[in-house]
Amino acid sequence: MSKPAYKRILLKLSGEALMGEQAFGIDPQTVARMAGEVKAAKETGLEICLVIGGGNIFRGMAGAAKGMDRAQADYMGMLATIMNALAMQNALEQIGVPTRVQSAIEMDKVCEPVIRRRAERHLEKGRVVIFAAGVGAPYFTTDSGAALRAAEMKCDALLKGTSVDGVYNADPKKDANAVRYNHLSFDRVLRDNLKVMDASAVALCRDNDIPIVVFTIREQGNLAKVLRGDGVSTTVSNQGE
Ligand code: UDP
Repeated sequence: MSKPAYKRILLKLSGEALMGEQAFGIDPQTVARMAGEVKAAKETGLEICLVIGGGNIFRGMAGAAKGMDRAQADYMGMLATIMNALAMQNALEQIGVPTRVQSAIEMDKVCEPVIRRRAERHLEKGRVVIFAAGVGAPYFTTDSGAALRAAEMKCDALLKGTSVDGVYNADPKKDANAVRYNHLSFDRVLRDNLKVMDASAVALCRDNDIPIVVFTIREQGNLAKVLRGDGVSTTVSNQGE
């Protein structure tokens, strides 16, 4: 497989990627391992933007299902993503990777606000920019936040690190005959409602021609491998079928 010619990527990790074997919250050892993955990817010469979800702490939908006002619950979810961003910033800096956190909800004691031109400068200087609080509005998720930042930062691809190694025609954890796709089109993903990212995030990537690469973050060294073009993944793009 030929090496993808990415210069700048956006990596989206779900909050669950930080909780390890725990049922909830942040496991520092797991965060350190994720930081190691980011460092290895950065050492291939890439500029990296990072978006981390908040599902390991709080999801607005879950709060709403228990009777909370949805918007209020979503704001709590956004605050959870800021905690995860700070945990990841800490882990990256402990292994010598310079970072900045920019939040869509201003919180000037702990991080910067989202300022695109400033983020550009950070990337030029070799810093990883962690975008927190999604798009900064309720009724969205960090998938949409990831697609939005990937578009505004002109990333060459959005890499979605998950617990499965790509997109399948059925749930591989339940169906032994499930088949993994190598390439898919955005339209197919939307039409067949394939579980890649939220429909709004997929549509934003489609309209801005940003391929989404789905891969597993559980396997050590896999992000760098996928970026080299020899890892297992599914690419969703306007060229796919
Ligand atoms: N959220 C939101 N707007 C955003 C991003 C996130 O309201 O732009 C809230 C929403 O409640 C969501 C929670 O933050 O459930 C955590 O984000 P997400 O569910 O995307 O995290 P992940 O599933 O990636 O861990």
